[in-house]
Amino acid sequence: MANTENAEIGVIGGSGFYSFLDDVTEIQVATPYGAPSDSLFLGEIAGRRVAFLPRHGRAHHLPPHRINYRANLWALRSVGARQVLGPCAVGGLRQEYGPGTLLVPDQMVDRTKSREQTYFDGMPLPGGQVPNVVHVSLADPYCPVGREAALAAARGQDWEPVDGGTLVVVEGPRFSTRAESLWHQAQGWSVVGMTGHPEAALARELELCYTSLTLVTDLDAGAETGEGVSHEEVLQVFASNVERLRGVLFDAVAGLPENGARDCLCAKALGGMDPGFELP
Ligand SMILES: [Zn+2]
Repeated sequence: MANTENAEIGVIGGSGFYSFLDDVTEIQVATPYGAPSDSLFLGEIAGRRVAFLPRHGRAHHLPPHRINYRANLWALRSVGARQVLGPCAVGGLRQEYGPGTLLVPDQMVDRTKSREQTYFDGMPLPGGQVPNVVHVSLADPYCPVGREAALAAARGQDWEPVDGGTLVVVEGPRFSTRAESLWHQAQGWSVVGMTGHPEAALARELELCYTSLTLVTDLDAGAETGEGVSHEEVLQVFASNVERLRGVLFDAVAGLPENGARDCLCAKALGGMDPGFELP
């Protein structure tokens, strides 16, 4: 029988994704970095053990800049997850990426300001272990295998995804000014969000496969002609697409390789370097 306190795959997303699963086990996980956003909710999809973590907390009380990203990724790894799917809501930076567009990015730009974004910060862990100075490659921030699974899952749901593009991550919680938005567009970036960084970077440091699935909920300020983005608009589009997105996530989970069979760059991100502490 499967251990109900273990998982092989992590999904960082809200309660809409797991609330109707049978036999969901809720567990609290402590980490050296403090508490994750919420409990982990463990369940099974297509014979795979999955841990769901509501990124903003189940009551959605954590704004993007207050999320304990280090604790979140650490907690997922500590229950056994080695592959992580990170769906998130974004603004479209091009007219053709309107609300309801599903874009699986292959690049990321960090424009955040205040976030703990590394495990290799020289600070001793509570157990006394001191991280070494380690620089991982983030040239390709997303798992190529996870991306293919996500794209295939979307096509299987008749939701033609945008394959590739750049996710620019801003600090928030405010939306962009028109000038910022126009600048993002002029760089050729595709979508703008608030949580993609440091999630992908931290996952790489822990040798986790990480795949971002972005759902466009609105056109960003510079790409539309009206009053600009409203919070209600974002929530509405997200709510109306949750069911579809859940279908894509579940099929993506089913399409991921066994953890032991990973041979992508993510699984070897430390390249044999000693992190100075034991990975959970
Ligand atoms: Zn990978």
